[in-house]
Amino acid sequence: MSTPIDRVLAAAASVVDEAVAFTSELIRVPTVNPPGEAYPECAEAIGRHLRAAQFDTSFVAAEGRPEHTRAHPRVNVVGRRQGRTDRPCLHLNGHFDVVPAGEGWTRDPFGGEVAGGRIYGRGACDMKAGIAAAIYAAEAIRRAGLRLAGTVEVSGTVDEESGGFAGVAYLAEQGRLTSRSTDFVIIPEPLNVDRVCIGHRGVYWFDVETHGRIGHGSMPFLGVNAISHMGAVLEAVRTDLEPRLRQRTTALPVVPPLARHATINVNTVEGGQVREAVQSPCVADHCRAIFDRRFLPEEGFDATRAEVEALLAETAARVPGLRYTLTDRMVVHPTRTPPDAPIVRTLQARIQDVLGRPASLVASPGTYDHKHVARIGGIEQCVAYGPGILDLAHQPDEYCEVADLAASIRVLALAILDLVGIDG
Ligand SMILES: [Zn+2]
Repeated sequence: MSTPIDRVLAAAASVVDEAVAFTSELIRVPTVNPPGEAYPECAEAIGRHLRAAQFDTSFVAAEGRPEHTRAHPRVNVVGRRQGRTDRPCLHLNGHFDVVPAGEGWTRDPFGGEVAGGRIYGRGACDMKAGIAAAIYAAEAIRRAGLRLAGTVEVSGTVDEESGGFAGVAYLAEQGRLTSRSTDFVIIPEPLNVDRVCIGHRGVYWFDVETHGRIGHGSMPFLGVNAISHMGAVLEAVRTDLEPRLRQRTTALPVVPPLARHATINVNTVEGGQVREAVQSPCVADHCRAIFDRRFLPEEGFDATRAEVEALLAETAARVPGLRYTLTDRMVVHPTRTPPDAPIVRTLQARIQDVLGRPASLVASPGTYDHKHVARIGGIEQCVAYGPGILDLAHQPDEYCEVADLAASIRVLALAILDLVGIDG
């Protein structure tokens, strides 16, 4: 007699070709974000597969969100397969938006080509293969003839690449993804097939503007040059702040290891009067820079912001006439699922079973939809685990190995059984 686990593993192997074809189908829907192309079409394609896998399926348009427009509707899809009871409920969530293709491709970024054991295309690993893995893991359990005790849900959501406000955040705000009905969330982002991601560092985006005084460029001593003053700010960041940040290390297992330190990146500087390459004989009266500070849970947001305020105040005290304003642009708090939580332990054990090697725990260098699950949804047990290689996300010739997709279907199917339980 074969055990339920044997039957599920056999069924998981038998659905791989369908999962590959589904991944290709999704890649051929160019859900490029920005601006958010073809979302309803992609949600519909995912909905068709969910219904075929016996999920009750509904579409959730992000009504009321400013980015939900007639030209670019924000439509999410949620499938629910109820077992004997509502709980425990495991929700698998994948975003179906992709970043623009960019330059340097040798394959059609929206062709969904399968060659040499790989599925190619924008979104192959980040994260259309992950959505396919989630649906076909649940489908393998059904085809094995097993009924679940609790409930499994799979959603496809929009806009993760631009913050996820009309996607996972919206589902959580609408009560579709909260601790009131959901116990566990797995996000099959491409973190490598043998790693479980338990969270991410914090993000603080801020603008610094320096304010000068316009004057004739031939008599700069009669004006105040805001660009020169921004130079002093940038120098203070580089020579004072950055060395301090490099000294700080988080206990979170962030990969790559250099991202275990606090970091800051200046991503924009603009200033002066030049517009469209027309020269101006004036002293620059304004300059603005945008900074991307990634902070550690150990630092916390308040201390992170206070440190920036102090750096600016010290610089202004040193440089005569330097006036500035600091404006917060975005704050994302760090998030972390406890490493001994059942969802983490389960995935680690099933990765070991399927791959025959231990799983490592990692944290992501950037943020992803985990933040909304935790902050808005209040769900503590959330991890990212899925097929695909992290370093290939957003790259030209992005691909997902078919073998990774197959392995992640097995791991996810067994994890669903463990977390949701078998009926009978
Ligand atoms: Zn992603």
